[in-house]
Amino acid sequence: MSNTSWKIGRLFGIRLEIHFSFLLLLGFYIYLGHQAAGGRGALSLGITIILVFVSVALHELGHCLTAQHYGIKVPRIVLMAIGGMAQMGSIPREPRKELIITINGPLVNFAIAIVLFLLLALKHHDFGYVAQGLANTLKQYVSSAPVRVPYRPWSLTWDTFVWGLLAWNVAMGLFNLLPIFPMDGGRLLRASLATRLPYLRATQIASLLAKILAAIGIGWALLISHHYLLAILFVFIWIGGEEELKFVRIIDQYAGKTIRDVMVRPPNDLTNVQFAKLQLAPDWLVDDYTAALFSNAGATFAVYGGGEVIGVVYSDELWDAALPPSRRTVS
Ligand SMILES: [Zn+2]
Repeated sequence: MSNTSWKIGRLFGIRLEIHFSFLLLLGFYIYLGHQAAGGRGALSLGITIILVFVSVALHELGHCLTAQHYGIKVPRIVLMAIGGMAQMGSIPREPRKELIITINGPLVNFAIAIVLFLLLALKHHDFGYVAQGLANTLKQYVSSAPVRVPYRPWSLTWDTFVWGLLAWNVAMGLFNLLPIFPMDGGRLLRASLATRLPYLRATQIASLLAKILAAIGIGWALLISHHYLLAILFVFIWIGGEEELKFVRIIDQYAGKTIRDVMVRPPNDLTNVQFAKLQLAPDWLVDDYTAALFSNAGATFAVYGGGEVIGVVYSDELWDAALPPSRRTVS
């Protein structure tokens, strides 16, 4: 558990954590609800946000359970204000697996939406009415003009929550499919490009398109729809894409290399060295252990041969050595 998130439970062996930014967002919406309709509005919007985040958790579980099915370890899911984040052992470089892991997130949202749509259609005995109501509710999310919605906003009725949750799940599923890397749609694009191109090249193309679309999204959110939270979300997506491209670029430089290639001689005195839990062997491929080697900043790994430490790997040096000379910091 990190300092900024708290464990709320464990599902299928995956630790579920809530990030403080989610609590900020919840507080912000409760405040908005209160401004609009007093205590009832605060409670109504608060419950809606919690239900939306249950959907976010289920979306992430869609990715994670598929990953687990392929033998990939998933230690945790963090629910943040900008959405969910699943930490996975290592992202597969097999495009087919990445496609299936990725698509199963939005598919969960569409499955939830279909169930809620059918519930409403059964209640009102009218598919057309529910379809029109859904369209109006979605329109309300992107339009600044008032739109007639089929439920009473700010109320604490079953209808308000079901309509809200239906529209949110459709919106979440569609938004995630926008081809903006590293959102799901961008990952699908990268995976399909990677069936024909090298993985790094595919990531570079997906990332370039993502920047163009994110910039358009920021402009639209700020100037046209005035959804400032959406603008912030696009900024985080931009940063996330940049980080992941950097990571892919770095990992690419270690393709085919073994631990022996990257280890250095151990210091003479090992008594005060704090080694990471994972013990390495010299003939292991760096590629197979990227998650452990690169995600522990400042970690020192011991390499064992014949029962003793024959080398060490510093995670910081792996990062430094892979960065192009122009991007290395000079001290
Ligand atoms: Zn997703």
